[in-house]
Amino acid sequence: MQKISSMTVLAGLTYSEIEKFITGIGEPEFRAKQLHQWLYKKPVADFEHMTDLSKNFRQKLKDIAVIQSSKIVQKLTGKDGTIRYLIEYPDGKRVETVLMSYDNRPNLTACLSTQIGCAVGCTFCATARQKFIRNLTAREIIEQIITIQRDTGKMVTNIVFMGQGEPLLNYDETTKAIKIINTELEIGMRRITVSTCGIVPNIYKLTELNRQLILAVSLHAPNHELRRKIMPVENKYPLDELIESLKFFIKTTGRRITIEYTLIDGINDTPAHAGELNNLLTDLKYNINLIPFNAIEGCDFKRPSIQKINRFKEILEQASKKITVRLEKGSDVSAACGQLAGKIIN
Ligand code: SF4
Repeated sequence: MQKISSMTVLAGLTYSEIEKFITGIGEPEFRAKQLHQWLYKKPVADFEHMTDLSKNFRQKLKDIAVIQSSKIVQKLTGKDGTIRYLIEYPDGKRVETVLMSYDNRPNLTACLSTQIGCAVGCTFCATARQKFIRNLTAREIIEQIITIQRDTGKMVTNIVFMGQGEPLLNYDETTKAIKIINTELEIGMRRITVSTCGIVPNIYKLTELNRQLILAVSLHAPNHELRRKIMPVENKYPLDELIESLKFFIKTTGRRITIEYTLIDGINDTPAHAGELNNLLTDLKYNINLIPFNAIEGCDFKRPSIQKINRFKEILEQASKKITVRLEKGSDVSAACGQLAGKIIN
């Protein structure tokens, strides 16, 4: 059990760990169920609001435990309702977690970070500029959901691992967090998306581990030469190997994959690129999310015109009907794809 300055951190504990904690402090077992509910299902800001716990028990909890170890250092709400939280862990390191909601849909989607910084080095991504700082633990990942739920008083319904870091380079802690999300928060595996830039061996590993998760792949280029220019990971795990691993995922799970493709003006957005992408994906079952490039500091890339985006989409539609241009969520608060950099926004 994780302790911070002798205080037990409750976030991330499984039901049986909460039971152990409760009996360890001399409380009856039924308290475990109550505490588990408050922690994961009935989001409240602090122990004071856990109204069916006795006053004495609440005081005892305040003396020996904390709900989470991290705190919010900045919260910004975008025009479209997207909320960008900047969270700080006890070692002073910070990451973003983003809450997205969509009109007409009750779903609340949390975009989680799995690492502080990232070693992968994609040229269009603000996180890459921080370089890799450290992995997050499963508990620290869960704390991002607890932060959102305590702050909004609402339950998160969907998870996307698309925040800072490459989830499959922090495989053990990410998969441990997924298990907690599924068993303790009871969010179904089919509501959890793991997004990877293409860490091929761990795509096989994840497929063997769980056949229900949604797999999203950041492709961003339709051929080896271009991809290695904008995504250094291509040097280690080239496209042909990546495509083989995706075929394995589709064959094993019977499910579609999601292809993420950031459109960058004059780099990967021509009709020829779209045609090449169709050919590359011929044998796969897929949806494509087109993401018009979101501006980041110190990067010369630009977003293509709406005409170019539409032309690209039309060509893709000749091969598949499931093409979406991702709604631009949170770009006014630097919470959109590729913009997360762990910084206070002024
Ligand atoms: S896009 Fe993802 S994998 Fe690439 S540098 Fe950014 S965080 Fe890392």
